Amino acid sequence: MNYFKRAHTLYVLHRHSIPHDLWEENTHSLVVLKGLSAVEKAHLRELTTLFLYRKKFIGAQGLELTQEMCMIVAVQACLLVLKLEIEFFDGWSDVIIYPGAFRISRDVTDSAGVVHHEENILSGESWSRGPLILSWEDVEKEMYGKHPGRNVVVHEVAHKLDSQNGAANGMPPLHPGMHREQWTEALSSAFEHLQQRLAHHRRVCLNPYAATNPAEFFAVISEFYFSSPDVLHDHHPKVYQQLSLYYRQNPLQRFAM
Ligand SMILES: [Zn+2]
Repeated sequence: MNYFKRAHTLYVLHRHSIPHDLWEENTHSLVVLKGLSAVEKAHLRELTTLFLYRKKFIGAQGLELTQEMCMIVAVQACLLVLKLEIEFFDGWSDVIIYPGAFRISRDVTDSAGVVHHEENILSGESWSRGPLILSWEDVEKEMYGKHPGRNVVVHEVAHKLDSQNGAANGMPPLHPGMHREQWTEALSSAFEHLQQRLAHHRRVCLNPYAATNPAEFFAVISEFYFSSPDVLHDHHPKVYQQLSLYYRQNPLQRFAM
């Protein structure tokens, strides 16, 4: 980071620092933060400060956003880049929060060139260079870990990271030292395994939505990685290992503490 950028970052961290009480009250019970060390929490607080400063939060359908709500979203988003860089979130600015699940209707062109009109009810959505869109009802429902493997903030932010190198396809830009073949082998065999079990109506450990396509698979395994790491590790150790290389964290160890 150059001198001026660094000086500005320090200014923001100082000028817009999150009040201690607000931080403590709203982070101590978030399940995905379980087991973080004091140093990691302090760094996460800085990342969250920068996120809140750089992103524009917009309440949709009349939703009045509070400081607490924005912080709860921001801190969970920043957890994904705790060992990466806040610059991984460059290139987009808006976080739109709906009170609950929202309806999206759009025209989609299929491979034969035929246009279909689609209507979907969603709890979250993210566009590669556009906004991050969330349903507050779902954020709130999932933040205490009552729905293991579900975290809409992690899901949508994983899509954002995935789309850093073009359209989301289940492979974000890998770090030096990571191997595309190992990533592809681990994730595609778990993806195919999931599809086969679903085709035979057998029980699956992941959210079946992961079988939709590789991009959704990456978003769902990221949800498990951060909110139910034991399930992902037990059933798909190679996938857990690849995510650990990518996110540079070890939630399994944190959760065991
Ligand atoms: Zn998704």
